[in-house]
Amino acid sequence: MEAKQNIDMEQLQYLLNGNEADYLKERAVAVRQRYYDADVYIRGLIEFTNYCRNNCYYCGIRRDNANIDRYRLSDGDIMACCDEGYRLGFRTFVLQGGEDGFYIDSMICRLIRSIKERYPDCAVTLSIGERSKESYQAYFEAGADRYLLRHETANDAHYRQLHPSELSLKHRKECLKNLKEIGYQVGAGFMVGSPGQTTQNLYEDLQFLRELKPHMVGIGPFIPQHDTPFGRELAGTVDMTVTLLSIIRLLLPRVLLPATTALGTIDPFGREKGLMAGANVVMPNLSPGRVRKQYALYDKKICTGEEAAECIECLKNRVNKIGYRVVCDRGDYKGDLNV
Ligand code: SAH
Repeated sequence: MEAKQNIDMEQLQYLLNGNEADYLKERAVAVRQRYYDADVYIRGLIEFTNYCRNNCYYCGIRRDNANIDRYRLSDGDIMACCDEGYRLGFRTFVLQGGEDGFYIDSMICRLIRSIKERYPDCAVTLSIGERSKESYQAYFEAGADRYLLRHETANDAHYRQLHPSELSLKHRKECLKNLKEIGYQVGAGFMVGSPGQTTQNLYEDLQFLRELKPHMVGIGPFIPQHDTPFGRELAGTVDMTVTLLSIIRLLLPRVLLPATTALGTIDPFGREKGLMAGANVVMPNLSPGRVRKQYALYDKKICTGEEAAECIECLKNRVNKIGYRVVCDRGDYKGDLNV
């Protein structure tokens, strides 16, 4: 029954117009509850480099942005983030960064091995962009469990509107396929309300997700960053993001679905709204306080002034208030990894 769930263009447009919003949320929450109860998984996000070789038009850490200070965290810095995170109850660490050639494969592998050695009960997730299948294989063998690589948009023409010509959707999809073949728990996803995005594009995103069957899906509103070519574009909306979260929960019932920081940035209760629409993951920042403002993918990002401990306390309160609970757990995908 699950796999047959689908949506057509008309239904998508109808829901995106705000029709049946409460019913949609109710259904999505019921499905989320069936597989994951009231549990909310936390992932400690370590933004370890803001150097990037790419020039995506939407992203604040794009190569041509000369107005940010660039930083790289050392192995020691990263291990200290994990130590603090472990103490606070995190059992997944996400290493995210720009596409930074400084970190060659042997360094990434060494880092993964150090984390897994010290914390064998934790999952390591990578989010470091497009690399060769051999590299992905090496990280997996070093112990990485999961990989986040948003497809950004499943439509070729739209992909070219968002990225310079040296990047291609074909290659992005190839990477996702490789990651799945290797055996990672894989995350795809896209921005909601990115410049030029149409309902047809979103429809194609949903069809792509149905085919790929990722274990995780990251979606959040596009938010302009003032030093990028899209600095004057409009941001995506909370309502549209929340509607799409519910739809994705229904299309992929067991998916690990974060209420993202971007959603929390455009609305003070954005993450709560996401959780109440079918999301079941949040990804608090574990990066050292001194570099947080420099990982500025978009403007006005939340939680750049606080320490990890404050963030997690605040988050637990917020989650409890809406009837869910933050659990201290790796929070793996509940289902057959190979479907
Ligand atoms: N370099 C890695 C990590 C990218 S940052 C990679 O290529 O996968 C993680 C995500 O942030 C991106 O995939 C993108 O969807 C999102 N992002 C980037 N700029 C954004 C913006 N201006 N508004 C909202 N989300 C953005």
